[in-house]
Amino acid sequence: MRIILISLFLIPLFGGAQGIRPDIDHVIVIGVDGMSPDGIQNANTPTIDSILKVAAFTWKCQAVLPTSSSPNWASMIMGAGPDKHGITSNAWQPHKQTLELECEGTKRNGKPSGMWPTIFGELRRQKPDAKIACFNDWLAFNRLFEKGVVDKQRDAILLQAASHHGYKGITRMASNYFKKKKPNFMFVHLDHVDHAGHHDGHGTQAYYDAVGVADEMIAKIIEAVKASGVAERTIIIITADHGGKGHGHGGDSPEEVNVPWILTGPSVVNGELSVEVNTYDTAATIAYLLGIKAPDCWIGKPILQAVAQ
Ligand SMILES: [Zn+2]
Ligand SMILES: [Zn+2]
Repeated sequence: MRIILISLFLIPLFGGAQGIRPDIDHVIVIGVDGMSPDGIQNANTPTIDSILKVAAFTWKCQAVLPTSSSPNWASMIMGAGPDKHGITSNAWQPHKQTLELECEGTKRNGKPSGMWPTIFGELRRQKPDAKIACFNDWLAFNRLFEKGVVDKQRDAILLQAASHHGYKGITRMASNYFKKKKPNFMFVHLDHVDHAGHHDGHGTQAYYDAVGVADEMIAKIIEAVKASGVAERTIIIITADHGGKGHGHGGDSPEEVNVPWILTGPSVVNGELSVEVNTYDTAATIAYLLGIKAPDCWIGKPILQAVAQ
């Protein structure tokens, strides 16, 4: 009896070799550029609709200001806002960092990266054997994380990208990779919804059609996860960098600032989240799920309400 009691105390205190969440060892983020809550609510999205029946979600995840792409993708993977990581516009480049950083990530070789630590770099540093992948429709996404820390990185196929159909190749490559390699962390970025927002306008039929296409891409990725055999150990987060208004984004209106944040997979507590969720909480949530320590300088917090404790 005494032995059993001791074991019961020891397990939660020290955890297993796999970390805080021994039930989860794969996280996929599907980031759809410019996909607003309104987009999901008004487009034909059968896959997201069925996910919502089992997911933890909010329509009010807060993007950071300005609501442009680089500051927001960066905050999502860096666990902090532009005041900390210094990425305030799409003009940012790693060698043009103007802010004195209070902490710094590391490249694959262990040398300082010259940029704020991301979930990609931290996972690599703390779990050198982790399998990490990034498939991004927008080329400039690459520069937002530490050099060399991912095992696989692919951009959109050029011809498809030129016609704003890069999502096709990205989805196919990401799905195939997940099925074969079962990465512990995979980021999938799709760009076409933002193009529709700029070209045709947010809230137009063309925009909703683009969200419908994103839903089809998400269905393909989920199919691949099911075929991989690790679905019951995989969490998927569906989110966006910003919403939009009229033909763009960048401002501080609710239409631009509120983004969907949908988490689905094992142990997920179904329902709308009552806690505040910021886009920079995404990195901290992934760190928690994959059992690594979030760097002290991150201000994001894991959204614990989303998963059974
Ligand atoms: Zn964007
Ligand atoms: Zn845009």
